[in-house]
Amino acid sequence: MKSIKLILFVFLATAIGIGSSSFIKEKKKITPIDSSCSSIAVWGFYGHKKINRLAVFTLPKGMFTFYKKHIEFITDHAVDPDKRRYAVEGEAPRHYIDIDHYHHDSLTPFQLVPRDWNDAITKFTEDTLQEYGIVPWHVNFMQYRLTKAFKEKDLKKILKLSAEIGHYIGDASVPLHTTENYNGQLTGQRGIHGFWESRIPELFSEDYDFFVGQATYIESPIDYIWDVVESSHIAVDSVLGFEKDLTNTYPKDRKYAFDNRGNRTIKTYSKEYSQEYQDMLDGMIERRMRSSITSVGSFWYTCWMNAGQPNLEDLEKKELTEKEKKEQEELENAYKKGKIKGREHQH
Ligand SMILES: [Zn+2]
Repeated sequence: MKSIKLILFVFLATAIGIGSSSFIKEKKKITPIDSSCSSIAVWGFYGHKKINRLAVFTLPKGMFTFYKKHIEFITDHAVDPDKRRYAVEGEAPRHYIDIDHYHHDSLTPFQLVPRDWNDAITKFTEDTLQEYGIVPWHVNFMQYRLTKAFKEKDLKKILKLSAEIGHYIGDASVPLHTTENYNGQLTGQRGIHGFWESRIPELFSEDYDFFVGQATYIESPIDYIWDVVESSHIAVDSVLGFEKDLTNTYPKDRKYAFDNRGNRTIKTYSKEYSQEYQDMLDGMIERRMRSSITSVGSFWYTCWMNAGQPNLEDLEKKELTEKEKKEQEELENAYKKGKIKGREHQH
């Protein structure tokens, strides 16, 4: 009992240390709503960091100490894959799957698209898969890489891949990462992507219950992540439909507000409007965040188990090589310059 209390305390104390912002005095620019999630409130950066951080607390004894020791790295680097969309061609499709692109008279998209990568390529070609997104397959691919890193006891790779697989799992848990109408652009709801995954969690997640319990072993990672995508996709209609209903009934002049972010002022959804939407969703975002946390912890745990439960206590931290330092620097620079290679709004 005592140890549970201690873990809960550490969990809460550590969880709070998220989301600091700097304030730079400069002339303010107003950023419109539909670009606000690409570079500012970018799960959004806040959500991804929180999910990775809290996933550490789902881990069993043999892993917890190690991950806790490196929790700042796991947290900070939760967002590298989003930054990489600015630097690397081919990164963007790893963050989503437009599963509703695939349709057939009598089959659901999930019956139509093979879960196995090679079977899916045979059926649709790799170009098509890349065009409409590959997140479930990419999570599975990352799972192999993380397992290998554990087998090799490669500390740097374990940390990097843990942080990054956490990101992709988080993305797969977001309904709007599973549809062609990913930012409401097909239904006159531009901006909803950032609203759902950034604005709402930033406003309300302090009140969410993130005590999710223990990570569990995943028998079939590919089936597991496809199930995550499927449960995300089931929620798409509610995500879009509720917002549409609310817009139709809410006073137009109270829907948006202006918010200061660093040196910019952004047009964003007002707190009152956000609260109404959050209430209509009836805990959906909290549930998706909670399941993301469990999924991330469970993937880490499964990779470690499949690698033969290596002892993580005696891993030596090696300094980054010059090449690795350069790569990280390029990532930051490309992100700061701010042009995504691929489409916007898939974080
Ligand atoms: Zn992403």
